[in-house]
Amino acid sequence: MPDDDRDPSHETERSAAGGAPELSRRRFLGGAASGLALGTAGALGCAPSSSPEPARWDLETDVVLVGTGTGLVGGLTAAVAGAEVVALEKRSIVGGSTGHSGGVAWIPNNNVMRAENIEDSRERALTYLTHLAQSQADPELLEAFVDAGPEMADFVQAHSSIEWRVSTIMGDNADYHPEWPGALQRGRSIEPVVEREGLFGPELIEYLRRGFEAAGGRVLTETPVERLVLREREDGVREVIGVEARRDGAPFFVLARRGVHLAAGGFEWDFDMKRHFLRGPTPYTLGAGGNTGDGVRMAMAAGADLRNMNEIWGISVYKGEAEPAVEHRMGATLNAELEKRSAGSIVVNTRGERFQDEAADYDSTWRSYHTWENWGEMGYRNLPAFLLFDAKPRRNGRIAGAGPDDPLPDFVSEAASLGELAEKLGIDAQGLTRTVARFNVYAAELRDPDFHRGESSYDRYGQADKGITLAPLDEPPFFGAEISAADLGTCGGARVNGRAQVLDPFGQAIPGLFASGNNAGVGSPGSSYGGGGGTIGPAMAFAYLAGRELAKQPSRSG
Ligand SMILES: Cc1cc2nc3c(=O)[nH]c(=O)nc-3n(C[C@H](O)[C@H](O)[C@H](O)COP(=O)(O)OP(=O)(O)OC[C@H]3O[C@@H](n4cnc5c(N)ncnc54)[C@H](O)[C@@H]3O)c2cc1C
Repeated sequence: MPDDDRDPSHETERSAAGGAPELSRRRFLGGAASGLALGTAGALGCAPSSSPEPARWDLETDVVLVGTGTGLVGGLTAAVAGAEVVALEKRSIVGGSTGHSGGVAWIPNNNVMRAENIEDSRERALTYLTHLAQSQADPELLEAFVDAGPEMADFVQAHSSIEWRVSTIMGDNADYHPEWPGALQRGRSIEPVVEREGLFGPELIEYLRRGFEAAGGRVLTETPVERLVLREREDGVREVIGVEARRDGAPFFVLARRGVHLAAGGFEWDFDMKRHFLRGPTPYTLGAGGNTGDGVRMAMAAGADLRNMNEIWGISVYKGEAEPAVEHRMGATLNAELEKRSAGSIVVNTRGERFQDEAADYDSTWRSYHTWENWGEMGYRNLPAFLLFDAKPRRNGRIAGAGPDDPLPDFVSEAASLGELAEKLGIDAQGLTRTVARFNVYAAELRDPDFHRGESSYDRYGQADKGITLAPLDEPPFFGAEISAADLGTCGGARVNGRAQVLDPFGQAIPGLFASGNNAGVGSPGSSYGGGGGTIGPAMAFAYLAGRELAKQPSRSG
């Protein structure tokens, strides 16, 4: 049924299989509302899950953008199309995780690569993404991303000071699975031109913010949105018409005449949500501290369906670095991820077994931590996990961020033998000895028949010594530290369609509500991570779609 062609008189509909009647959307929402009323009556003083229309709006605008990371692309798009847009940001600074990211966006078939004479196509990109997602992605979203991505990149370049270039950070290692069908080694990862080394997230955000403001958009920081404001239309459908935020300690109601764009990031700092939605323990994050799942909860309260809730942008971290960071709500570091690829290192579990290609991309690798043991004591076979080194990386590289002349942090153990290291870390010494003996034989030949480390050209990315990632662990002293599954952010949230409209569990668009980025259940899309920039690329593309749609929505009065 088309979104705008609903018959509210149909209280129940037969399921497609002709089985038990399914609840209609209206009854579902009504039921949810009465359940809510009961809950409220039973727990006086609890806030309602959405706000009623206020007697007076504190601010009126066409579009409310919630969150100022990649969502700024949506704000820019709607503003350029003539809509009045107000962006509300919870924190005192704009940018979220995007603002401290590498600033790389993975956009297949873009015009930036074309300028370098790198050939790509819609079909090729879809082949790669479809293969990558292993049937865990909605084809509509894959196509929407591949179609909107290049358009978005051109649009952003035309309407902000961003000038794209093929990513210098990723170089010839753009796609994380370069040997797979449809992959390309170079060109799909793009970044803003910035004349310095390092991560370019700050510039990406600064250029977007300036473009947004130049197009007439306004940013209000320290204004967390707490609830969506919904009202029931004459046809019985509930629509989103604004938000209740908090500003200077008081409620702050903003009317959104055309709609609300949720771009409030993921739920990486809500450990209760993570415990219940993710496939296994993921106790640490590198995401920005404001990302506590507010946007996902608000979408749920408006009746949104969810997607991709078991997915994260996965990574490995040192537990010793991550634990103190959690207390201060700061992101952990990339040290473990970078160092476990170095020659003379392996990752093992408490049995001393290897269980991953340590040099593969971070998002494929984190999945290996959650292998479930289905016999004996049961549990996660590969947690806890340990990153071990021999003397070579200590001499030539870094361990837990410490260079050859720096003292090692306390959480790194040092030992004269592998047996002693195993004892210090609580690893089975016999198992470790067996593993290292086998690993060393093959590593000396630059082979890894067990986990194929070094076979993909991506595995050799960033390795100083001619791209070699394999070397025997045969030089004492040995070093080791516990590592853990972590995330750059979660990527499940409100289910959207190819126009970034938020959908309810019956597949109907919730009028006035759009979502993108880690707030939406899009992913890369689905259970995949295309390459460098694989989170920001789709997030910007869907923000663009949201902004474009919002500018076209009819204007509603308060
Ligand atoms: C070190 C690091 C480097 C990375 N590099 C890359 C990279 O180069 N390429 C890539 O693709 N990915 C990268 N990532 C991942 C990427 O940064 C995130 O996946 C992406 O930025 C998420 O974008 P977003 O817009 O969904 O969320 P965010 O950028 O986090 O924006 C969400 C915003 O919403 C705000 N917000 C939250 N709740 C509310 C509320 N209630 N009201 C108002 N505002 C609210 C937040 O404060 C935040 O500003 C990196 C991550 C890290 C940690």
